[in-house]
Amino acid sequence: MKKMKIKQNDKVMIISGKDKTKIGKVLKIFKDRDKVLVEGLNKIKRHVKPNPYKQEQGGIKDQEAPVHISNLSLVCDACANPTKPGYRLTEDGQKVRFCKKCDENF
Ligand SMILES: [Zn+2]
Repeated sequence: MKKMKIKQNDKVMIISGKDKTKIGKVLKIFKDRDKVLVEGLNKIKRHVKPNPYKQEQGGIKDQEAPVHISNLSLVCDACANPTKPGYRLTEDGQKVRFCKKCDENF
């Protein structure tokens, strides 16, 4: 099984579809489906029925839809480039993620 490399609050770029090259923050991860919810991206219009019990009005609402991780690239915090992360051990044996473009941990 493919390892999930994306974590919550990571910055990601969408690399296919209508939001291609847009960058957003990961809000939520759906591990079982390999999908993540990205803030402000991949919005869909959802029809909402009025719900008098909750005093909700019906209509069309914009809502983020989960994006499959194969359509995303991680974005480095330090150099702001989409990057493939590498992993390495620090001197005290901790595993850290680093950017292969600028060599910073992120
Ligand atoms: Zn970088």
